[in-house]
Amino acid sequence: MSTRESTDAPSAEALATAKAADGIVTCDACPVLCRIRPGKTGACDRYGNVEGRLTRTEPFVVLERTLEKDGKIVPFLGQRWNGAMLRDGSTFVTGIGAGTTYPDYKPAPFIVGSRIDGVDMVTVVTEGIFSYCGLKVKIDTDRWLGPEQAAVRVAGEAIGHVTTAEYGSQMLSLGGVHHLTGGGKKEGIVTCESMLKLCGLEPVEMTIDGGATVIVQAGHAPIINGVPEVRMRVGCGSATIGIFAKQWHGHADEVIVVDDHITGVLSEHQAGRFLDMKPAGIRVRGRKSTPGRYFQVANPGIGWGGTDITEPLSIIERIDPKTAWPGMRLLMVSTTGEHAAWFVLDEQLRPQPAEMPPAIRTVVERIGENCEPALCSILFMAGAGGSLRAGVTENPVRLTRSVRQEITRVTSGGAPVYVWPGGGITYMADVTAMPARSFGYVPTPALVAPLEFSMPRAAYEAMGGHVDHIRPLESLRAETRLEAREWPRGNPWPLP
Ligand code: SF4
Repeated sequence: MSTRESTDAPSAEALATAKAADGIVTCDACPVLCRIRPGKTGACDRYGNVEGRLTRTEPFVVLERTLEKDGKIVPFLGQRWNGAMLRDGSTFVTGIGAGTTYPDYKPAPFIVGSRIDGVDMVTVVTEGIFSYCGLKVKIDTDRWLGPEQAAVRVAGEAIGHVTTAEYGSQMLSLGGVHHLTGGGKKEGIVTCESMLKLCGLEPVEMTIDGGATVIVQAGHAPIINGVPEVRMRVGCGSATIGIFAKQWHGHADEVIVVDDHITGVLSEHQAGRFLDMKPAGIRVRGRKSTPGRYFQVANPGIGWGGTDITEPLSIIERIDPKTAWPGMRLLMVSTTGEHAAWFVLDEQLRPQPAEMPPAIRTVVERIGENCEPALCSILFMAGAGGSLRAGVTENPVRLTRSVRQEITRVTSGGAPVYVWPGGGITYMADVTAMPARSFGYVPTPALVAPLEFSMPRAAYEAMGGHVDHIRPLESLRAETRLEAREWPRGNPWPLP
């Protein structure tokens, strides 16, 4: 392995070209090309002029995992780098604070070699600048946030849209190149700022055209129209019937689980038939899909089961006098158990509110017990299949193929990523799995995110990697910006 001089700058080339006679340095880490006066920082605050040197202002992060040694756990030693660590096999060099090379034909800022279990490994790290990036936001709630395709706005600017609802969750698609670069200047700035906050686990309030106001924060409950969501539903109305039918049997003559998508009616449902339940003669509104499963019983909303109803009996279209009977016991409940009402039919077959029997209340409470906490989850999605590959290899398609063949592992701040099938290196990462302060931005506007490509050295050589720039892990000891943090225990170790 060859070594090179330690620097705090994004690349040796950048340092060589950055200085100007008046002490101003030009940052070439992104297309903005800031001219930075002594003691100042550039437009993104990621780079500064420190005594005439272009310097990445934030720490360069390595992650250190604890290892068992002689049967004992070796504790993580400190917060700030003390130079005592950097061990092959327990230190992972991240792209956080590594810097960016731009244009990308220059080798990545750090190409680090290590020897693990007799195998020479190489990790290439950089901070990718992504105009093509977005956030996939999963909001656990039955409540209707707005129509599909409706614009999601922050400060009046469209930053994304509502996309297809998933099982128990409403989904948003935020950011993306069209909002970052394809709209007005303010739209791009607000989109970039909002994405940066969300990636940094900060809350962002957004409004949805024709829908709700929601505060989204990764790893926290959504707040919808000012009300924190608590439960993610146990299942759709039909699934709820399936799960709890046996527990209701003998205690209720009919159970209707109100759901905006699939409302379940126990006695008609296959689960009720399996239990030989007597038909109850209650027909709910909406379109019958299959026995005991109804679509569109109401409009979507923030009431019972993601519908707009606050009065459950309003979804009953008719009660058949030939089938129903006085004294019939009816439970109406939502998919979270948050809403529930007990009725008994009077002599005119009108449902009358009554006190819920303990056996029924227990099952309603069990629906709630089986709901998971409602959370916002955010996946950062970006395309790493473009020019930044040239910082890894002279023959970029070989990196793509190597990733595809799972010879090269991609991580983002050490966090595992999912690489989409098909062309390119389009990946997604859970922002809560990434270390704090992983993300940055540049005013083009675009987000900056850490990337690491790890592979055997032989594979790196074979793909035409910048082998002359491989430096041993030990050489990082001289980096004054180095900060060691503890390896997040929930993440798989990416090296052998
Ligand atoms: S915006 Fe930041 S990265 Fe871009 S040139 Fe200015 S200081 Fe450098």
